[in-house]
Amino acid sequence: MTRPFTLDILDAWEAGEELSAGHATVLLEDPSPGAAERLHGLADQERRRAAGDEVSYVINANVNFTNVCYTDCKYCGFYRRPKDADAYTHGDGALRVRFERARGFGVREICMQGGLNPRISIDRYEEVLRLAREIIPGVHMHAYSPAEIDHIQRKTRLPLEVILVRLKEAGLGSIPGTAAEVLVERVKKLISPGRIPVARWCEIIRAAHAVGIPTTSTVMYGHIERPAELAEHMNILREMQKESVKAGGARFTEFVPLPFIPYDNKMGEEFGIREMAPLDYILRLHAVARLFFRGWIENLQVAWPKIGIEAAKRALRLGVNDLGGTLIEENISRTSGSEYGQSLSPAQFNAAIREAGRVPVQRTTTYDIIREGDPRWRHPRPDDEAFLGGGAQGGRRKDSLLPLLGAGGCR
Ligand code: SF4
Repeated sequence: MTRPFTLDILDAWEAGEELSAGHATVLLEDPSPGAAERLHGLADQERRRAAGDEVSYVINANVNFTNVCYTDCKYCGFYRRPKDADAYTHGDGALRVRFERARGFGVREICMQGGLNPRISIDRYEEVLRLAREIIPGVHMHAYSPAEIDHIQRKTRLPLEVILVRLKEAGLGSIPGTAAEVLVERVKKLISPGRIPVARWCEIIRAAHAVGIPTTSTVMYGHIERPAELAEHMNILREMQKESVKAGGARFTEFVPLPFIPYDNKMGEEFGIREMAPLDYILRLHAVARLFFRGWIENLQVAWPKIGIEAAKRALRLGVNDLGGTLIEENISRTSGSEYGQSLSPAQFNAAIREAGRVPVQRTTTYDIIREGDPRWRHPRPDDEAFLGGGAQGGRRKDSLLPLLGAGGCR
């Protein structure tokens, strides 16, 4: 019997060869149990080499200041038109309340993304950063996706570098690598024709890295994309990372696969997508990503608000070393129909990680690891779960969630 090509690819990878996009496609397309067993085992081994047995999370809050947007991405259930009854753009008072609550929880990071609101100027983007850091001294601002940076440039017509340096000086610490979806024009034109094209996303990320602003990287999958397009997406990220490392600039800190949630948004209906990607495919993609980014992007995060904490624990056994943010208040997931989009307390994170047989650690946005015993370690508090609205557990239905810090942002 002929030996499957998949196993040859995995042998070559184990011998030190870089995974090509073509080989990643073959791995993504092979559902056989034999291939999965080998792939998962190698991904787990590579995870141990890259990150050891520690699993990290960051104490953070999502705060966003507007859901007004004109872009109309088909997968988005978050945005509102300016005249919609539930459209909002928070002023300082409302933001102050949210930042003060986040400070009370002891956050290390504020994650902030929002709609592309034509009425918001660059001055306001700067003011919000300053306000947050005035209220929470030293907090890391992980904010403003490439789509928002593009939006600022369209309004101001300032050079990209000028905008990025201004935001950095106002307190921007890193940029979420969202708005990428799948970095293939065929896909982008179908699912988000009004959003920034591939070349523009890459241009903004390169410019951010060049001025010393690190970014994350994501992919939104499980809709109309093909496995070869996911592989192409990862290849673009890996090539960009090589350039950034060579240039000595900032770089991607992590890769986060985000499964598309098909419920309650236009894209699910329009393309007839009724279910999320199957769990075995979700797990396979994480394992392939771990192999694909070897030596280039060392942190692989699983988006537990989209797949649930139990499935996320399985992903910890095949390449994943990070569970994202503690205080995730996920309007985008929730408003698109996810059952899991909400917060976990530090105690719940620690327990989930220990149940998976691993060691919980906290981290900064840029993966400075904080171990138990470090003075910066944020201990669980008796009132954590009450603070989180009594709903701090994965897997609850979206209609039972309580609004907390306001939140969401765009994917
Ligand atoms: S994903 Fe972001 S840019 Fe797209 S419609 Fe939603 S808020 Fe607007």
